[in-house]
Amino acid sequence: MRIAPDFAALATSVLGLVLGLTTPLLGQPSVAAVAQRPDVQRAFAHVDTTREALWAEWIKVTEISSPSRQEQARIAYMKKAMAEIGLTGIETDEMGNTWGTWKGSGGGPEVVFAAHMDTVFPMDTKIKVREDNNTFYAPGIGDDTGNLIATLRAIDAMKKSGISPKGDIVFLATVQEEVGLRGANFWLNRRARKPDLFLAVDGGLGQVAYGALRIEQYRMIFEGASMHTLASRGKPNSARAAARAIVRIGEMKLPDPEPGTRNNLPVVNIGMMGGGTVVNAVPASVFFTTDIRALDTPTETKLVAEVKAIAEQAAREEGVQFKMEPMTEIIDYSQAKPKSERLNHPLTQTALAAADHLKLAVVDRAQAMDSGAADHNVGVALGIPAIGIGATRGRGGHSLEESADKMAIIPGTKYLILLASLLAGVN
Ligand SMILES: [Zn+2]
Repeated sequence: MRIAPDFAALATSVLGLVLGLTTPLLGQPSVAAVAQRPDVQRAFAHVDTTREALWAEWIKVTEISSPSRQEQARIAYMKKAMAEIGLTGIETDEMGNTWGTWKGSGGGPEVVFAAHMDTVFPMDTKIKVREDNNTFYAPGIGDDTGNLIATLRAIDAMKKSGISPKGDIVFLATVQEEVGLRGANFWLNRRARKPDLFLAVDGGLGQVAYGALRIEQYRMIFEGASMHTLASRGKPNSARAAARAIVRIGEMKLPDPEPGTRNNLPVVNIGMMGGGTVVNAVPASVFFTTDIRALDTPTETKLVAEVKAIAEQAAREEGVQFKMEPMTEIIDYSQAKPKSERLNHPLTQTALAAADHLKLAVVDRAQAMDSGAADHNVGVALGIPAIGIGATRGRGGHSLEESADKMAIIPGTKYLILLASLLAGVN
């Protein structure tokens, strides 16, 4: 997972090779050389001198409610902002994904930066950003509003500083990320020409996720005849079948976590349960949910099959019916490249080298993570070079107490500038 000190230079030159480009491989600049270019330095300085405006915009957009499937107000904001910074070909698709392009001069890869506009908070959630001790507090401040604004302002700063990219830089503001990566899935699958490089800006500063967590979520439904309590003695009961299945799923022997992985994976979680309508009758229907996560497809498939078999057995023993309904779109990872290929890809290595150049990691060096559950998963699944990165640092994502570091977004925005310059290539 560690890279040699001079790998950065190698990575940038290999990038051309991997992408089959005609740019000369010799003389490709290193991360340090790109970071020290006057135009890139001007872009960095622009971020510093306009930081008050960036913070104000971050607060403003955070306070625009944007639950999944109801992102309309943020779509309007982003569309206008993309036009104002001079992107072209701005479009919004049927789902609400909104994107614009900064055309390069040619000879570089097409690089897509994706950040999502939706949050997990319902429309009526009171959202008012509060600042305390250089920390912003508000639902959705970090996930993913900070990254959305950082990406917008990184491109703006690059344009204003005379940077001339070779490849096209596409800024994609996605929808419905929080409900199964639906926006990115729609956008990437529908697009005839796949991007050369895809980056989801949706994580913590200094982390580079090159993997894609397999996630399958199901509603487990048990159904049987309903009858009055007085008639229920000795009769099948869906609640009892569900209870039996829950206990046995909890007792499943899971494979050991892979050494060196951040999360304790694989895992099966039962997050919701319910059923029945009255106290004095056998319920006609009872359900619980399963959230099954693993780092590879064979493990995921095995766990899903095991969970299903347990539930079917419990239903059989009780004499009730069972069905299992997917709660989110299931992403097919059959085209994903092997793990080592994704880790060693110049995209991953350049992102790590750029993070290290800017000293973004909290501890030691930037970490490559074989996980990640964000829009880049869709790219990984399609076999497109794709990673998840971050431009902010925060806590408590998906909770009302969510917070984000006010200062970290500044180096975070510079990181995006450096990365975009390295990946698209600059004239
Ligand atoms: Zn997110």
